[in-house]
Amino acid sequence: DLDLSELDDRTRELDAAHVFHSWSAQAGLNPLVIAGGAGSRVWDHAGRSWLDFSSQLVNTNIGHQHPAVIAAIHEQADLLTTVAPATANLARGEAAKRITDRAPAGFNKVFFTNGGADANENAIRMARLFTGRDKILSTYRSYHGNTGAAVVATGDWRRIPNEYARGHVHFFGPWLYRSEFWATTPEQESERALRHLERVIQSEGPSSIAAILIETIPGTAGVLIPPPGYLAGVREIADRYGILIITDEVMCGFGRAGRWFAFEGYDLVPDLITFAKGVNSGYVPAGGVIISDAIAATWDTAVFPGGLTYSGHPLAMAAIVGALDAMSSEGIVENAARVGREAIGPGLEELFAKHDIIGEVRGEGVFWALELVADRETREPVSAAVIGRIKGALVERGLLPFVAENRIHVVPPCTVTDDEVAEALATYDEVLSLPLVE
Ligand code: PLP
Repeated sequence: DLDLSELDDRTRELDAAHVFHSWSAQAGLNPLVIAGGAGSRVWDHAGRSWLDFSSQLVNTNIGHQHPAVIAAIHEQADLLTTVAPATANLARGEAAKRITDRAPAGFNKVFFTNGGADANENAIRMARLFTGRDKILSTYRSYHGNTGAAVVATGDWRRIPNEYARGHVHFFGPWLYRSEFWATTPEQESERALRHLERVIQSEGPSSIAAILIETIPGTAGVLIPPPGYLAGVREIADRYGILIITDEVMCGFGRAGRWFAFEGYDLVPDLITFAKGVNSGYVPAGGVIISDAIAATWDTAVFPGGLTYSGHPLAMAAIVGALDAMSSEGIVENAARVGREAIGPGLEELFAKHDIIGEVRGEGVFWALELVADRETREPVSAAVIGRIKGALVERGLLPFVAENRIHVVPPCTVTDDEVAEALATYDEVLSLPLVE
């Protein structure tokens, strides 16, 4: 019997009383109430709405409430809502086929998980078992998920209070704007980052290293587009030392970069591919590992020592089938590439020309970041207070942003329209014009 704004109050009360939130001190949180959504928009019960340029946690690649995905979930719910992983299930097979059809030649098997972290967890396990080696190399500027090995493979601060898994070593990937290698050109950054990686491998002992786990485009770390030759160089080095490559496509895959897989743009064929998020936009949680034939063959006769109760869950699988079919028939991945090229990229460059607070614009597809700086010369990041004010002002004006450290990530759904991009650009422009100084 509550009226609509009372529903928002009730939601906030229940949340504050009983919901324990991720990555947060619990006192004083005041999360936005989201009750519904469609396409690129979300709203609360009372009808206040926001243009969602976060895609939540960069996962609603197909937008909110796509009717084809909803219908596929409904249809499967009527048929069978759950089944054990050891059974054969049509939705699961159809989902796996749609994923491998989009993967490079020689990738024909999928191990399904509940999300991205356990996808990385199992890819790491496969790499260790396949090579008989222990160490996993990953970059400091990375996020790989919040479970045992995945969080320790992560490079950012979240690794440190959780550092319990063994056999993880970190290195610096390339990022010219904040180069760790005193580089001044992309070619130099690429060459020096590769030399650094090879030195780390030699120093750790190549025969102790199972795999390099790498986000094709590091996402949460800042949408760090790899410089020319870098990923091809990583492949070359890995091959030289018999080390596998696991590409983490959890955030950058399934349309986000304007391609099915981001690595297609970088002359890299990995050995294992992890995915989640965009595969079904998170309508029902799902992730997995796409396994190359050579590695999959290891467990043709030997037992694979891993599994999950909900591996290949029928509702999640139906959502994958619905999402991937709609993304193909509606040209959604092509839309992401076009919008990035024609609308987001040029629009953000215009903002760069106008606002000194923007130090760098980078990205592709619907995967972009604005690097905000206190000083363009020194490149000093803006303070947490400034980024907090920017975030608040964007939300106030009806835009839901993705904010990480000193950056705004511009990450709408792959279905975003030119008009929605224009609306978001106008809001960013207005907010960056406010007096924001410390
Ligand atoms: N890998 C990458 C690149 C991610 O961005 C994320 C989540 O943001 C994960 C893995 C973890 O995925 P999940 O939160 O579904 O476990």
